Amino acid sequence: MSLATYKKKRSPNITPEPFGGKANEENLIFVVQKHAASHLHYDFRLEMDGVLKSWAVPKGPSTDPQTKRLAMMVEDHPYDYRKFEGIIPEGQYGGGTVIVWDEGTFEPIEKMKGKAAQEKSLLKQLKSGSLKIKLKGKKLKGEYALVRTKGMGEHAWLMIKHDDKYADTADITKKDKSVLSKKTLEQVEKTSDNILGEKPEKKSADAKKTVAVKKKLKKKKHSK
Ligand code: MN
Repeated sequence: MSLATYKKKRSPNITPEPFGGKANEENLIFVVQKHAASHLHYDFRLEMDGVLKSWAVPKGPSTDPQTKRLAMMVEDHPYDYRKFEGIIPEGQYGGGTVIVWDEGTFEPIEKMKGKAAQEKSLLKQLKSGSLKIKLKGKKLKGEYALVRTKGMGEHAWLMIKHDDKYADTADITKKDKSVLSKKTLEQVEKTSDNILGEKPEKKSADAKKTVAVKKKLKKKKHSK
């Protein structure tokens, strides 16, 4: 588990995104975030090994087994990201608005008892490039496969709905509200105060202090 890449891309003084968190649920959790960055996309995240394994899905998940969706694997995200809804300031990595489009628990399709055994199996599947999972979300339910695909770069996977009782040809992305705030992306964009770098708030005041301390430390170093 490593969040090094995640941390490298972001500055806690400027973005309201979370930087930590400890897996604390009895079951493995998943989240899908709808993210209006330079290109609108959905971020599909699965808890594994204490972090969120993440894929950017440009067209969003489909409930139709005939519709395979491209999913580009991105850097691991911290566990606390599962509740992140707000605005990443323009000019920052992933600048734009984020809502929690879906959330829930998941497990490998193959039945096995206990989170530890499930994680072990999932990590093995991830490595092999073929994940078979069962989602219990508010929007997404039932079996899905994530399969690494060749010829579209090393990070390209396909997200495919299995044909079960939850398979449906209706476009699930038409359901466009957050499962946390019940707001659409546009509403969050207008009303969110989870934003750093623009509005002064407690978090950013603390962050400013951190910057001041860091600067002092730097000065000290240089004066030696
Ligand atoms: Mn994203």
